[in-house]
Amino acid sequence: MIIGNGKVITNDQNNTFLENGAVLIKGNLIEDVGNFGALKKAYPDEEVVDVKGRIIMPGMICAHSHIYSAYARGMSVSKSTGNFFEVLENLWWSLDKKLTLEDVRLNALTTYIESIQNGVTTLIDHHAGPNSVEGSLFTIAETAQELGIRTSLCCEVSDRDGKEITVKEIKENMDFIKACEKDDKNDMVKAMFGLHASFTLSDETLYKVKEAMEGFTNGFHVHIAEGIEDQFDSLKKYGKRVVERLHDFGILGEKTIAVHGVHINQREIEILKETDTSVVHNPESNMNNAVGVPPVVSMFKQGLRVGLGTDAYTNDMF
Ligand SMILES: [Zn+2]
Repeated sequence: MIIGNGKVITNDQNNTFLENGAVLIKGNLIEDVGNFGALKKAYPDEEVVDVKGRIIMPGMICAHSHIYSAYARGMSVSKSTGNFFEVLENLWWSLDKKLTLEDVRLNALTTYIESIQNGVTTLIDHHAGPNSVEGSLFTIAETAQELGIRTSLCCEVSDRDGKEITVKEIKENMDFIKACEKDDKNDMVKAMFGLHASFTLSDETLYKVKEAMEGFTNGFHVHIAEGIEDQFDSLKKYGKRVVERLHDFGILGEKTIAVHGVHINQREIEILKETDTSVVHNPESNMNNAVGVPPVVSMFKQGLRVGLGTDAYTNDMF
């Protein structure tokens, strides 16, 4: 199939731009890119989709979202909410407790459909829903496959809902990781191990996570220093900063996603670089939660791999 008669942005290293370009797709692969006329001539038997001057570019990757919060849009908070912790308590954590598996499925449908409509073809999600943990990742994965969007899933492990739930969350991550490993030819659905954030994870829980993950090479997906409270908590309880603490537990690495990093210092940026950990910046969310501005420019200058996420505020990357 030729998709053509549009402005092609290849997003390659040379930043190639074709004013009247086209791409040739065979199966799952883009086999050729070039001028629309030339491509039609070279492959006369191919079906042609005319985009009429629109932009043809690689699909966007939303590197951090929370499908579980699809119902939150426009929802107001009933109690007074003056800091980041209260935003979590009064909005996100009162919402995630109520979710059933059917809600999770509907949230996933809404999020994925809107993502596709906005040019997102890969969504990396960080799921939470303490009272419907079991099977939640499988429910989301089914929805993604139904719609044909690429996705990476995990479930936030946290101590915030009590020990029983923590155990269930660890199990759901591991069940899903194992299922994806069995189905390793499927390049549309992948698994990570989800951790909420340092301040809701005791050392005891992190040791349990390490034990469960022994022998597995999947990356972790974790919020780091989104609010200053995360750093205060880590310094007070463990005498080290958030990135140092997670590094000591072997959480960082080239497959791990460290989300936000609003309140990290120079040494923490260096640890992320040394471990080749990816960082995800979520500007809209940072503004909404009034947590501050991460040192993104500095991260770029120091060669960190930085992705963009919506953190589920909208599904429109732009
Ligand atoms: Zn998040």
